Amino acid sequence: MSNKKVNMGTQAVWSGEKDVLVHGATQVPVVVSVAYNYDDMDEWYDVATGKKPGHIYGRNTNPTVQAFEEKVRIMEGAEAATSFSTGMAAISNIFYTFLRPGDRIVSIKDTYGGTNKIFTEFLPQMNIEIVLCETGNHEEMEREIEKGCKIVYLESPTNPTVKITDIERIAKKGKEVGALVVVDNTFATPINQKPLELGADLVLHSATKFLGGHADALGGVVCGSKELIEPIYHYREINGATLDPWSAYLLLRGMKTLKLRMEQQEKNAFAIARYLQTQELVEEVFYPGLETHVNHDIAKKQMKGFGGMLSFSLKGGMDAVKILLPALKYANRAANLGAVETTYGPARTTSHIECTPEERAAVGIPDGLVRISAGIEDTEDLINDLENAFAILKEHMLSVGK
Ligand SMILES: *Cc1c(COP(=O)(O)O)cnc(C)c1O
Repeated sequence: MSNKKVNMGTQAVWSGEKDVLVHGATQVPVVVSVAYNYDDMDEWYDVATGKKPGHIYGRNTNPTVQAFEEKVRIMEGAEAATSFSTGMAAISNIFYTFLRPGDRIVSIKDTYGGTNKIFTEFLPQMNIEIVLCETGNHEEMEREIEKGCKIVYLESPTNPTVKITDIERIAKKGKEVGALVVVDNTFATPINQKPLELGADLVLHSATKFLGGHADALGGVVCGSKELIEPIYHYREINGATLDPWSAYLLLRGMKTLKLRMEQQEKNAFAIARYLQTQELVEEVFYPGLETHVNHDIAKKQMKGFGGMLSFSLKGGMDAVKILLPALKYANRAANLGAVETTYGPARTTSHIECTPEERAAVGIPDGLVRISAGIEDTEDLINDLENAFAILKEHMLSVGK
């Protein structure tokens, strides 16, 4: 084998699988066994105490799950990885592994709704101080980090307004105070962004979204150094938020087409964003690939592609959304993203359902904001679909005399 670096599309197809293939099969087996048999008591002891590789019990490790973890680990360029039943399990396990009463976290206002709930509802109960900075205000973040903190938690691009944070810049500041820098890379995926190369200590995913890509399995994963992943794994093997082998298989199979999907989803997101910009009923379009995006330059610097997520606000608010979305033919109206099907959802019923209207307004989410996760359909059909839906919306607006 040559030492040439293998490209991401090839890694997505091949990496992480070899060690678990059996009987000459070309595909990873779904190992459903909860426990593993050892005729040799000494070998059993050695595996159980970590002296030898192998599996003991399904809550701890599983060969199918291991292949999925390996694939993500290699693609993120990490030393180690561990997986979870969901993305939220990955996120909360990181916090509960490392945080102790009295600790301080510096993060942004625009994290995923569930993450935001952990910050505002659960961690304060453990006497953890949470500082949520204006997303994209790097100076404010740096000032807060300088005061000292245990974890710097980032998400870029964010959900649903796709705001961008300069990961390299904030990670550097985090390192100066000895903080753990954690990045939720769900929207970008390792195809478009490598947080560890930008200086982060841990990178995590809701694998439910783009990694799996087919909206048929839940999962989460965290990658980083062995030293950091080991305690997270240990906490997870005890609290039991383990990834199911069937889900691990579906996620792993989905990942094989990750690069192809990301390319088509970006192409479609760009086309939809440009189309929406031409619509007079559209107030604002948010997509990091557009030059009108506030942090387009940072996105260009740290991302290989701008991804498949965008959002827009309609002039008629929620009333207009109620006409436009049902008129779409090639779209799921669902609380999901990253799937092969194009998916639309108002922020108030998807990413930020946990928040009050006031809380949403505070992070700049208007009531009529619609999130789009571009699928892999033919671009032309998605644009035709939108044209048709906007024609229906205009007609409706005229008929009610607006
Ligand atoms: C969906 C999502 C999560 C949570 O993942 P689940 O698998 O639903 O638990 C976390 N972060 C981001 C950015 C997400 O989109």
